[in-house]
Amino acid sequence: MEPHMPLSVLRCIDCGHTHDLNDPVYVCAQCGGLLDVEHDLERLRPLISRELFDDRLRHLEPPFNSGVWRYKELVFPAAPDEMIVTRGEGNTNLYRAPKGLAAWVGAERLQLKHEGENPTGSFKDRGMTGGMTHARMVGANSALCASTGNTSASMSSYAALAGIQALVFFPEGNIAMGKLAQSVAYGAVNVQVQGDFDACLDLVRQACRTFGIYLLNSVNPFRLEGQKTIVLELIQQRRWRAPDWIVLPGGNLGNTSAFGKALHEMQQLGLLDRIPRIAVIQAEGSAPFYQSYREGFAARHSVKAHTIATAIKIGNPASFYKAKRTLEWTKGIVESVSDQEIVDAKAMVDASGIGCEPASAASVAGVKKLIAAGVIQPQEEVVALLTGHMLKDPGVIIDYHQETLQGFNSPYANRLRTIKPTLDSVESLLRSARVTAG
Ligand SMILES: *Cc1c(COP(=O)(O)O)cnc(C)c1O
Ligand SMILES: [Zn+2]
Repeated sequence: MEPHMPLSVLRCIDCGHTHDLNDPVYVCAQCGGLLDVEHDLERLRPLISRELFDDRLRHLEPPFNSGVWRYKELVFPAAPDEMIVTRGEGNTNLYRAPKGLAAWVGAERLQLKHEGENPTGSFKDRGMTGGMTHARMVGANSALCASTGNTSASMSSYAALAGIQALVFFPEGNIAMGKLAQSVAYGAVNVQVQGDFDACLDLVRQACRTFGIYLLNSVNPFRLEGQKTIVLELIQQRRWRAPDWIVLPGGNLGNTSAFGKALHEMQQLGLLDRIPRIAVIQAEGSAPFYQSYREGFAARHSVKAHTIATAIKIGNPASFYKAKRTLEWTKGIVESVSDQEIVDAKAMVDASGIGCEPASAASVAGVKKLIAAGVIQPQEEVVALLTGHMLKDPGVIIDYHQETLQGFNSPYANRLRTIKPTLDSVESLLRSARVTAG
């Protein structure tokens, strides 16, 4: 073992060119390809075991009380503990789907991994703790991201903790209220850009290159290292038994990419009994990855994105090729669902008592569709990812249940009622609402 050899390098997924972890690059300097953080698994192998990760569940202090840093050897082994920017992220519940929801989906063994239970309400915190720790290690003063909302909420929080100035570009008029409120409250400089998310991301990449600002979108490979722990944690929660399927929504495809890398590494390290298949679910109006998948990846598509699920309203996914690799590593598949299917699945997840934001419900809508199509068998073990918290997008909830959501039906509406302040009104209410007295 050579002590001066780095434990991890940045490696281009296209040409294999390597860069030092501290090089200020987000794409390959040689060919422009996406970069992986590549860990020296042979050197790490003797350190890593299921027992190590189980033992760390007893930790009450940072960094190992975090559901990301518990797996530090597979996330960022070289990060000095005192540099780690953490809010104890992860440690999210893996629910068994309540009966009514499971029956509606048609799944007998459905579990829900609720990443909306992270500190700022989405899985983005898992990536941000990795990215912000790297930003601090390289001495960044400011960080920039393009965001449909959750990345900005997360980055603003972690930047405040790290004492780094946060700068956020939003697509104008396309951000859910809960997310915008967080970003403002955490003290970021918030900028509406007159363009869609894809235009924002282009601008961010150019601005970071030109002005030397630290980039915190998911092309930053340190974010994906943190997001890998969703898979590590859910499999650990199942006592290291992998499910048949892991189903998740796909937007920019960072999470899809991280999941494939996690499973690939876990398999190499002997942490897996079998490799679960990944199913990526896109919204019909924002489904370039699905289109390419359908054509056997003959071409890389991009579209002008439309969907009510703003977190996956992305027309040109940055992590396209890493996500394609995930499909190869996991015999993965891609499906698309309509916005109506998304809002109905959301209403069912919400009414089950668990709740999630619209984009998250795409995974549940996808499981339902894939079971109906015979691709997933009803008795197979499925973990569907809920990516964000219910309160991120209250506007969609109120409109759906008031039946005022433009262009949608509300078959599962729970309408707000108004009555006069009299007992007679209460009596007729009880009759009409079929509320059982007593
Ligand atoms: C970011 C996000 C997604 C999309 O994840 P990608 O990694 O961009 O595919 C889905 N749901 C929610 C709630 C998100 O915040
Ligand atoms: Zn390259």
